[in-house]
Amino acid sequence: MKILVINAGSSSLKYQLLDMETESVLAKGLCDRIGIEGSMLKHKKAGCDEVVIMKNMPSHTEAIAMVLDALVNAEYGVVSSMEEIGAVGHRMVHSGEDFNCSVLVNDEVMAICKNNTELAPLHQPANILGVEACRAVMPGVPMALVFDTAFHSTMPEKAYLYGIPYEAYKDYKVRRYGFHGASHMFVSQEAAKFLGKDVKDLKIVTCHLGNGSSITAVDGGKSVDTSMGFTPLEGVPMGTRSGDLDPAVLEYLMGKYNMNISEMLNYLNKKSGMAGVSGVSSDFRDLCAAAEAGNERAKLALDVFSYRVKKYVGAYAAAMDGLDVLVFTAGVGENTVEVREAVAGELTFFGVELDRELNANGVRGIIREISTPASKVRVLIVPTNEELVIARETLALL
Ligand code: ADP
Repeated sequence: MKILVINAGSSSLKYQLLDMETESVLAKGLCDRIGIEGSMLKHKKAGCDEVVIMKNMPSHTEAIAMVLDALVNAEYGVVSSMEEIGAVGHRMVHSGEDFNCSVLVNDEVMAICKNNTELAPLHQPANILGVEACRAVMPGVPMALVFDTAFHSTMPEKAYLYGIPYEAYKDYKVRRYGFHGASHMFVSQEAAKFLGKDVKDLKIVTCHLGNGSSITAVDGGKSVDTSMGFTPLEGVPMGTRSGDLDPAVLEYLMGKYNMNISEMLNYLNKKSGMAGVSGVSSDFRDLCAAAEAGNERAKLALDVFSYRVKKYVGAYAAAMDGLDVLVFTAGVGENTVEVREAVAGELTFFGVELDRELNANGVRGIIREISTPASKVRVLIVPTNEELVIARETLALL
């Protein structure tokens, strides 16, 4: 079966068409500047050059229609007709407490998603628009939602409750939810497969380190704790997000900088993290290059990040009372040698022995081990693939 995977943002929409017999990507692309002047579709058929099609896309409906046109195009298309697309898998950011796994789309499910937009006001409305546009253009095609939060629905109460009055949870759903669920689920399962073990028998810490970063404790295949919380602002400092912070800092700095609360949240989401600490960049490639060239604040930002990741690893080993596997994934986790070294290089007291050679050298883009044979904890780099998870989940639901 061929499955179309859609990840809709407010003004962009990413897609991939996968052949599930081989789990290979037939074509992928991006609709950019939806609803803005100068909208375009960038489409790439596997093994061919990217084509760019400039066309007005006032809404997600036109965007989806353009994607379908591209997929059936005689020159750069990959299917002969739309009927070949057996199902569509959509990324949806928030399940609230309503879903603990992926679900097939129907009116009731969509109503619940709309009801949860308050929990993710920046992303959920765009995700919903993507689904609705697709349902309009492809009536009768089964569709599934894969949530960022659902994998973490197994967290126990003691892990997801904040230390604030219980009414805030009961009345307003304020609790920790966690994000990047599809990625944490995928890499923990891939790690178990790679090691020839059943994920049920493993205690794994997965470090999804990218522009946004989160760390998860996966015990027996289930998420038991994760570093992101009510929103993706909690946890380790990220490209431009602060991560964990004493909430008293908000009022103090709002006074000093004369900011209102939305300016403050913008400061914490967009101006903080690596960009804020380093004053150089939010991008780890830039940070590593600047640190190498002697920039002290770039070095400091890398130290702050790695130290905070390492503390979460330690905390989650404690939470699970053990650690069998440490996994690095996403842009930084898969590519930034310095971060992996700083996180995993000095955890010898609980049995992590990093092989520095393997960490620094090796083929990218494949799953590989970077711990020594003597290491009690196996350390792996596992490339994440959120689109594949969405497609697999969709197929499983059918
Ligand atoms: P997102 O959270 O946006 O999905 P990614 O997982 O793509 O982010 O990660 C982006 C980060 O990964 C950037 O900081 C980038 O510097 C880093 N990164 C990506 N590729 C490389 C690479 N080849 N070497 C070093 N860092 C990389």
